[in-house]
Amino acid sequence: MSDLNDNIARAQAYMQRFREQGVLNHINGESVPADSGKTFETLSPVDLTPLANVAKGGASDVDRAVKAAQEAFKTWSKMPGKQRREILIKVAEAIEARAEEIAFTECMDTGQALRFMSKAAIRGAANFRFFADKAPDAEDGLALRNENQMNVTSKRPIGPIAVITPWNTPFMLSTWKIAPALASGCTVVHKPAEFSPMTAKLLVEIAEEAGLPKGVLNLVNGMGEDAGKALTEHPGIKAIAFVGESRTGQMIMAQAAPTLKRFHFELGGKNPVIIFDDADIDRAVDAACFMIYSLNGERCTSSSRLLVQDSIYDEVTRRVADIANNIQVGHPLDPSTVVGPLIHPEHETKVLSYFEKAREQGATIATGGEKVGSEGCFVRPTLFTQAKQDMAVAQEEIFGPVLTAIAFKDEAEALHMANDTEYGLAAYLWTNDLNRAMRMTDELEAGMMWVNSENVRHLPAPFGGVKSSGIGRDGGDWSFDFYMETVNVSFPRKMHQVPALG
Ligand code: NAD
Repeated sequence: MSDLNDNIARAQAYMQRFREQGVLNHINGESVPADSGKTFETLSPVDLTPLANVAKGGASDVDRAVKAAQEAFKTWSKMPGKQRREILIKVAEAIEARAEEIAFTECMDTGQALRFMSKAAIRGAANFRFFADKAPDAEDGLALRNENQMNVTSKRPIGPIAVITPWNTPFMLSTWKIAPALASGCTVVHKPAEFSPMTAKLLVEIAEEAGLPKGVLNLVNGMGEDAGKALTEHPGIKAIAFVGESRTGQMIMAQAAPTLKRFHFELGGKNPVIIFDDADIDRAVDAACFMIYSLNGERCTSSSRLLVQDSIYDEVTRRVADIANNIQVGHPLDPSTVVGPLIHPEHETKVLSYFEKAREQGATIATGGEKVGSEGCFVRPTLFTQAKQDMAVAQEEIFGPVLTAIAFKDEAEALHMANDTEYGLAAYLWTNDLNRAMRMTDELEAGMMWVNSENVRHLPAPFGGVKSSGIGRDGGDWSFDFYMETVNVSFPRKMHQVPALG
């Protein structure tokens, strides 16, 4: 308890300035309120008390931010990559120096447990370091020769980028987009999610204190249908890096069509973890539980469907239920908490509605299936068993600590079930049969697959989904392909015959 009380006191101290001044926009190096003077509240998911007033930006704020990003682009895009690298490494160091403040603020604003968020800043800093190191060579291309010509390709930053992020792990996700955009020589206007806007403000302040020139990273808070929409429609924005729900991605694509922007979409998921009876069951069960019950299950790559071979179904589901039962639900700043409160009452209502749907459609609630306490958005880790493929809990993204278990007979049925959703972000496969792993990974409809492992990220590897889970890849050099344009220059290698007309 003393740890928790001490952590709460430290979190309050870190957030005091937000309580006093609000969470302002940040445009061209200045902290500014919304032009309209309007604000909205960000709530604590622990007890629903307001944490701070947030600037409610709209079209005019977005316009100023884009103009600042366009102006800053003139110099930032021309700065040698080596110099951009040095600045971005300093940003990484500055993030590490304020890791506790970032983690505590993130916990209070999102409800994510400290045991996971304590790594948020470190992972954010790692994103900056990784992409910074690629900045010096980012514009390099190929020399493509034939007998007449030498074609030389190179890459140029595309222009100001809109980065639009969701509320689940905002700091880590924002750096995953912003760091490669800046390393490429692009400038950014960031619109964070309205449910958890605080650490975006910390990021832009930290970056500028570390030496990022003003206007290179700008922040406009506000509602999606207002500030977000204006940003996607602005002609000064050349590409949109969006992370969020699939139907928001559809809207953004339509909004941005008249100005022909480039898109990168990381969207929803209903990711299967498939366990065959030849697998290492201990490891598979731990990994499945980790992937759905960590980060409150509010995780795009969560293993939200547990597909288990029928011969081991009872044993696996019993073990998962035991683990889920033992998971501590509590205050996000309590070091022993695994599952904290869900982000917001609106989202909690959505998650709770699936308990009702599961019962109505005939699934069994093996454990959980209820709210914890009457304050805040706490929900018990849940396992549905005896589920069927066509149930809502087997098809729809719930985005909470809620797992749906379905039995399969053989490989063909496992594959059919795994692919039978609109999503295709990640898949986890547990088998000790190498040939089966080869066959299955050839056929699984997912952008990312892990064999005999939970999600372990490797920054040079591609990240992204297929079907309704996304468009495009980032990670490694894929990020630079998105934030840069490839251009080709052709030189004659000999004095060839130029066609003469007339
Ligand atoms: P959301 O789509 O509701 O909102 C995401 C962002 O889009 C917010 O900043 C919001 O204000 C903005 N937005 C909403 N409407 C907009 C519009 N019309 N124009 C422009 N911007 C608009 O998503 P959420 O509820 O914040 O986050 C949860 C979702 O994010 C889940 O579906 C989850 O799977 C997904 N997600 C995906 C990944 C991934 O890598 N694939 C990672 C994390 C989260």
